Amino acid sequence: MELSIVNNRCKVCNRTNFSQDLFDISTQTCLECKPKERLFFELLEIGDKKQESKDFYGAIDDYSKALGQSPTNIEALNSRGNAKFQMSDFQGAIEDFTKVVELEPKTASAYYNRAFSYFNINEYRQAVQDFSKCLELDSANDQAYSNRGIAKLFSGDNNSAIEDFLQAISLNPKNTIAYYNLADLYFRMQDFPKALESLDKILNIDPKFLLALELRGKLRHQLQDYQGALEDYDTILELTPSNYEVLNNRGNIRFLMKDYAKAIIDFTKVIELEPRAAIAYYNRGFAR
Ligand SMILES: [Zn+2]
Repeated sequence: MELSIVNNRCKVCNRTNFSQDLFDISTQTCLECKPKERLFFELLEIGDKKQESKDFYGAIDDYSKALGQSPTNIEALNSRGNAKFQMSDFQGAIEDFTKVVELEPKTASAYYNRAFSYFNINEYRQAVQDFSKCLELDSANDQAYSNRGIAKLFSGDNNSAIEDFLQAISLNPKNTIAYYNLADLYFRMQDFPKALESLDKILNIDPKFLLALELRGKLRHQLQDYQGALEDYDTILELTPSNYEVLNNRGNIRFLMKDYAKAIIDFTKVIELEPRAAIAYYNRGFAR
């Protein structure tokens, strides 16, 4: 029987021109390398399953064994980096993501993941740099803009953070997290009209966004829009009835609106929910 030459390259050992009986087309490996290749994929698959079931320690072990078979595999390095991140081994995760971008400098996701790792060890400037590299490769990534904005906030660069949040919103007008971060920053900068404008936009998109409701309630309270604040606190308490801080705030609003009977009801609930809430005893004393 005549065997034809398969013009293919083994992806493990890089040798070429194997005869048909010595090359496996489905795995693109020579028969010598095929067992190694199979073992690698088995280990990768087991690692992924462990990662899915949150056995990160086990997953790291399997990915490390897989990398023993194929030390430069991007997928295995990236997955192991993610598992290390989940175990709060941020330094280890940074090492794996660094290998990925050394091997394949155009992997935007590895820069993105490494940025989060730097963020978690308080290396905010490094995080900003990596989000920037991610954005050079993937300029429409609104999450990268939004998260770079947060990293900039932590490194004290408020104005540049605002630009990133606005850019994230222009790329994705429904990015409520970016809107919220923007609103929170305007609030802390005491630019109340802009904070209110952002909060209104969030709550038009997602009327049950609790943090936005809380912040708008607080802001309306501060701007003496008591009716508005009351509405926001009502909505929050419909969604989370035992939020005693908001109950206490609503009690204060009702007190300011001279609805003393309802203020007492709120303060009494606060004391039931949180007996250590001394401020509510104090407030209830005033309302009586
Ligand atoms: Zn081979």
